[in-house]
Amino acid sequence: MKITDILRQRVRVRFAPSPTGHLHIGGLRTAFFNYLFAKKHGGDFILRIEDTDRARFVEDAQDKIYEALHFYNLNPDEGPREGGQYGPYEQSKRLDLYQEAAHQLVDYGHAYRCFCPEHRLDLLRKTAEKRGEIPKYDRKCANLTVENAKKMAENGEKFVIRFKLDKQNVQFQDEVFGIVNQCIDESDPVLLKSDGFPTYHLANVIDDRKMEISHVIRGMEWLSSTGKHQILYKAFNWTPPKFVHLSLIMRSATKKLSKRDKDAFVAYYSDQLGVLPEAVLNLMIRNGAGIQNFDSEHFYSLREMIDQFDLSLLGRRNLLLDADALHKYSRMAFQTARFDDDLYPRILEILEKKNFEIPEKEHIRKIVEFLKSKEENFGFLSSLTSGEFNWFFSRPHSSQLLCESYPDQDLPRILQALLKLETYNSETLEPLAKRHQLTLAKTMGIVRISLIGSKKGPPISELFEFFGMEECRKRIEIMRQLL
Ligand code: GLU
Repeated sequence: MKITDILRQRVRVRFAPSPTGHLHIGGLRTAFFNYLFAKKHGGDFILRIEDTDRARFVEDAQDKIYEALHFYNLNPDEGPREGGQYGPYEQSKRLDLYQEAAHQLVDYGHAYRCFCPEHRLDLLRKTAEKRGEIPKYDRKCANLTVENAKKMAENGEKFVIRFKLDKQNVQFQDEVFGIVNQCIDESDPVLLKSDGFPTYHLANVIDDRKMEISHVIRGMEWLSSTGKHQILYKAFNWTPPKFVHLSLIMRSATKKLSKRDKDAFVAYYSDQLGVLPEAVLNLMIRNGAGIQNFDSEHFYSLREMIDQFDLSLLGRRNLLLDADALHKYSRMAFQTARFDDDLYPRILEILEKKNFEIPEKEHIRKIVEFLKSKEENFGFLSSLTSGEFNWFFSRPHSSQLLCESYPDQDLPRILQALLKLETYNSETLEPLAKRHQLTLAKTMGIVRISLIGSKKGPPISELFEFFGMEECRKRIEIMRQLL
């Protein structure tokens, strides 16, 4: 796309999810690229809720979409909650617009009312299937005169509005996929259902036009609909917006993401793993899509991504969801995150959700500093409550590992002796080990499990320093009582 094209029209882009369930990672990527493009060009990022499929409507899906957009800092300029001069932003509140547009197409002769009852359509479908053909509407109602059809409608007969779609070749320009040729050979699709609700194609085209959308940026699964949309724009005599279809998100070069994969959904990253938002955003640009001078070893802030975004650099290469890359970016995100703004609120949230006792803010700061300087593998915040780092916030609650690891030792006596020491270091532990006929390594092992309930973890001297004597004693005493 030439820069002069972009400047000619105000950039207005939309994220148009259907509230049908959990937000898919592909949906987040679509929102993200729309946002980057809008912000790069000082344009508007709009959230439009495409909720006309009432059978698939899920009550709290819109809240979840908002939650995700806020979490990732992709806040809309206009939308159901923000308002704006192009609203309403939920399609179910714009029915009159679609009805008016559908009737306009009837007046132009591009559409017609169809009164065929469901059982007739069923029969057509079944007959076609028996013959091994693709079911098509036979255009019976297209032969009704406009007057007759009007009268039947006025008499209260139920009807849908169908678009007269002759078989044809359509050609259009996609900003990523270049010139696209499509042969459209479908039966006359329904634009408006008998309950007055539009179908996707009509509502989508009307809204993109009425909301003055300059660029339609969406997943490539919608590329196959774009030919039909072009025909609709033509029927209304409207210039279509520019189309930008984003490549697929795949598991591997040959394997698609499945709906059963938990990492296919946005909530997995924030709720289950506790990944910081910019880590996921970096994962989404890791194939370099749309970023000038992309550097795969650099961790991009959202601001940098906006500044370096260039739509003409979007490629056709699919994005691979890779767990190692996610871990890498999560670690980088943790290292660059600020304590007060980014980490403290997130850690509090996670602790509260898991019903952990909330420690002093300064204690959490100390933990973060420890992790930043000593644990370069740390990236997933939820491992603070349910993973290998949960010992920061939870004291020992079982003696099983200790007993299994040292079955032949008189553990109560050893712990009792440990409690009597003034300080913990190799000088004080060595004589204690000798007295109990233990090696120093074994003694350290006992101390380690008593402190953090694990055989792994940072060097023991760092644990002593981190906890301090009082907390070390408290934990050893708890373990003693658990024995
Ligand atoms: N409502 C469609 C969806 O759920 C929007 C497709 C489009 O962006 O045109 O993804």
